[in-house]
Amino acid sequence: SLSIGIVGLPNVGKSTLFNALTKNDALAANYPFATIEPNVGVVGVPDSRLDKLAAMFESAKVVPATVDFVDIAGIVRGASEGEGLGNQFLANIRECDAICQVIRVFNDPDVTHVDGDIEPSRDIETINTELILADLQTLDKALPRLERDAKRNAKDKTAQEVLAAARSARDVLDQGVGLSVGAAPAGIDLALLRELNLLTVKPFIYVFNVDTDELGDPGLRAKLSELVAPAEAIFLDAKIESELAELDDAEAAELLESMGQTESGLAQLARVGFATLGLQTFLTAGPKEARAWTIKKGATAPEAAGAIHTDFQRGFIKAEVVSYDDLVEAGSMQAVKAAGKARMEGKDYVMADGDVVEFRFNV
Ligand code: GDP
Repeated sequence: SLSIGIVGLPNVGKSTLFNALTKNDALAANYPFATIEPNVGVVGVPDSRLDKLAAMFESAKVVPATVDFVDIAGIVRGASEGEGLGNQFLANIRECDAICQVIRVFNDPDVTHVDGDIEPSRDIETINTELILADLQTLDKALPRLERDAKRNAKDKTAQEVLAAARSARDVLDQGVGLSVGAAPAGIDLALLRELNLLTVKPFIYVFNVDTDELGDPGLRAKLSELVAPAEAIFLDAKIESELAELDDAEAAELLESMGQTESGLAQLARVGFATLGLQTFLTAGPKEARAWTIKKGATAPEAAGAIHTDFQRGFIKAEVVSYDDLVEAGSMQAVKAAGKARMEGKDYVMADGDVVEFRFNV
């Protein structure tokens, strides 16, 4: 499944946040694999549609879509040159599909900052610089090979294009600018460089670890959001998140309300992470469970069936599809069918977010 790597300087609250992620008991029960890999936390994507479906179908349980978060050792200045855990950590983020940077905003004289004081913009710069340097190294290592390929296969258009893209990417990075997809430099086809697994190409999310009493400060939020735009910014207090993860739903809601929040930071992080990965969900419901399944945007009906079971994809015949909104408006599956709003879709159907589906297949 797709994963998001958590990076940041030491002492910014990464472990605290990660522990909160892995304390998600409700999920651990549904996802036993959550505990198999010690550095992977599986977080449910909040989805109020599931509770409604569960009520309508009298489902025994609710199973949300999930996002995997990977805890990656802290980055220090010089990591790209092998400082700290250096290359090990770089190898770990290379395997992730998106990167989540935690940035310290909280004040606590008892927790030292590696660079002396609290300065989010400098910290963001430090991490970005390390990622850029790592990508420069990757390109410098790959370029001689790409040049040989292009020379040897003078008629191979792709080899020429890959080389040109690698050179352009190197020029951009050399100016201290990342290749992030949000602001992709004009004229570089980053898809050609996919095999290099460049870090600054990956989608980014920024998590600002803020003191509770500053969480609701709109001025601070605006200032910090601006630092990272157009990437998404999330604001949370990692210490509170780890407390929230230990409370039951009602208690957690009460604590959140007392802080003027409606949703936990982790829930926001899961939602934003899910969207950043380019994913969407379709829904199934019955007496056993109401469940959200993860697919890529643009997935077809057979691909969606494959998310449930590969046999469903192989033997796909049809999908009976109802949109969630139509279903809720009608009040029951029977009523929505009577209203003529259930559609039989074939193998070319492109799934929409929130489709409620039943597959017909041969086994
Ligand atoms: P990491 O090195 O980035 O993994 O940072 P840790 O999660 O280990 O946190 C470093 C120290 O900061 C620990 O003593 C945490 O308890 C503390 N800490 C983490 N998050 C917060 C926070 O939001 N507020 C305060 N006051 N302390 C925090």
